[in-house]
Amino acid sequence: MNHPQEATEFLKDAANAKWHDDTLWFVRDKRDKVSKSVPEWEKLRNLASDIKDNVLANLETYLVEFEKNAKANNIHVHWAKDAAEHNQIVLGILNEHRCKAIVKSKSILTEECHLNPFLEKNGVEVVDTDLGERIVQFLNQPPSHIVLPAIHLKKMAISDIFHEKLQTEKGNDDPYYLTQAARKHLREKFLAAKVAITGVNFGVAETGEFVVCTNEGNADMGVHLADVHIACMGIEKIIPKREHLGVFLRLLARSATGQSITNYNSHFRSPSPGKEIHIVLVDNGRTEQLAREKFRNSLKCIRCGACMNTCPIYRRSGGFSYGSTVPGPIGSILSPGIDLQKHSSLPFASTLCGSCSDVCPVKINIHEQLYEWRQEITKAQGTNAKSISMSIANGIFAVPFAYKLSASMMRGALKILPESITYSGLNTWGKQRDLPELPKETFKDWYKKNRK
Ligand code: SF4
Repeated sequence: MNHPQEATEFLKDAANAKWHDDTLWFVRDKRDKVSKSVPEWEKLRNLASDIKDNVLANLETYLVEFEKNAKANNIHVHWAKDAAEHNQIVLGILNEHRCKAIVKSKSILTEECHLNPFLEKNGVEVVDTDLGERIVQFLNQPPSHIVLPAIHLKKMAISDIFHEKLQTEKGNDDPYYLTQAARKHLREKFLAAKVAITGVNFGVAETGEFVVCTNEGNADMGVHLADVHIACMGIEKIIPKREHLGVFLRLLARSATGQSITNYNSHFRSPSPGKEIHIVLVDNGRTEQLAREKFRNSLKCIRCGACMNTCPIYRRSGGFSYGSTVPGPIGSILSPGIDLQKHSSLPFASTLCGSCSDVCPVKINIHEQLYEWRQEITKAQGTNAKSISMSIANGIFAVPFAYKLSASMMRGALKILPESITYSGLNTWGKQRDLPELPKETFKDWYKKNRK
């Protein structure tokens, strides 16, 4: 199903849709308050944007520098051109260590590569250790938000899932009680795993280290207990210098959840004695996006999720309606680049209000890119109902007499048409809206009378 169809499904439960909208607005509001407490906020955004521009212009150089320094730190570096190669590399490392169960902290990249089903098909138990991710994993669902994976679920629903999977008390939806149950359950998984997989928030070219940010400390727990750490990193996550972390870490937490700092910003530089660190650098369509001049700066994204929290369409249609790993405004730019046919409805899932661009900590011109995609898609689709109606409208608007005549016919029709026709299935706009009452005279008539 395309975005409008999926959104229609989501909106069938109006109370839940309202709750989803309010919840994400609460996060957006927190982000506003905390960002305003930093006087140099706009300077930081400009700086972050400039650093990322420099990275995109010199990506190859920084990646090679990162590889050289990481290898010098005894990190094994692997390159994957696509998701299939990434998954094979990870499986190869697991096989080498005869590993049949892993713990994994949040990684949008591994979601993008569909690593979980691939490993499970190959006999590996995968346990997502981020609380929200574990909840959606119990339901066999993907995350509905890149920072808040289970934001579509209310606490009572989580209580029911935990009752079924973890034998918690039926009907007990106390968040503390449920978190303790998850903690105990995950502790056993942490202790048993020989390999831990994490994502990467930032790879530092200058030092060959990488940084993983979590609020729950689950990445650290997994990595420190396991013998082998596999870190999966999109190639755009590189930054030139360690000092640049001071810019990005301040922006990331505030933009994502309205916190002044993420609880755990862990730096991984070299393995402890007797242990191994592997890093898999993944392209999977990123160099193609880099080559698209109009869309290349979407690769600046630091995956904070702020554009989702503010987007009136995301808040009112839910993450699953996008049908892609990264939903919301930024996903609607990235996904058509991966599969234009499949994701052609996404750039239209926007009011183009520009709020996404306003909150983006790295200043991606998201709404302008959405508009660019619309033009590309409309061109690629050729003639359709919308293009025909637009060219008819164009013809009418271009000829004053035709405009006047059609406007007066419309006014006349609206006065006499019964509601069943005005709000029929053909008028989807009218489903949740009332037409404004017709004024007694048109602006044109008024102007003629009042012109001095
Ligand atoms: S596009 Fe900007 S606001 Fe959206 S997730 Fe990426 S960094 Fe955050």
